[in-house]
Amino acid sequence: MTTIFKKIIDREIPADIVYEDDICLAFRDIQPKAPVHILVIPKKEIASLMELTDEDESIVGHCVIAVSRIAAQEGLSGGYKMQVNCGEDGGQEVPHLHFHLLGGRRLH
Ligand code: AMP
Repeated sequence: MTTIFKKIIDREIPADIVYEDDICLAFRDIQPKAPVHILVIPKKEIASLMELTDEDESIVGHCVIAVSRIAAQEGLSGGYKMQVNCGEDGGQEVPHLHFHLLGGRRLH
């Protein structure tokens, strides 16, 4: 199944892309839940945290460091939240691993 995020990676549908490299892509969430709401996704199609294997270690590390760098770029010096929803019970809607970066206001 081709997810909407894969279509964004392949430029089949538009997105407000803020960062890209060989391993990951970052774009603004279409329904932001905070003044800054960015999704960082690996280019590799990994459905969720549940599908991770040892060989994905460097990809996940790369994505988390991208979150940190993008947060700095966005000026979130007061802090931010990184969130990963996993599976149905975790509230995951798009089955392509993604790291939510939320910031710009006090988050609870
Ligand atoms: P999750 O519930 O963790 O799977 O989060 C999926 C996120 O993807 C939600 O916050 C949606 O608003 C966001 N989203 C869905 N479609 C798009 C899209 N085309 N462009 C940007 N963000 C999207």
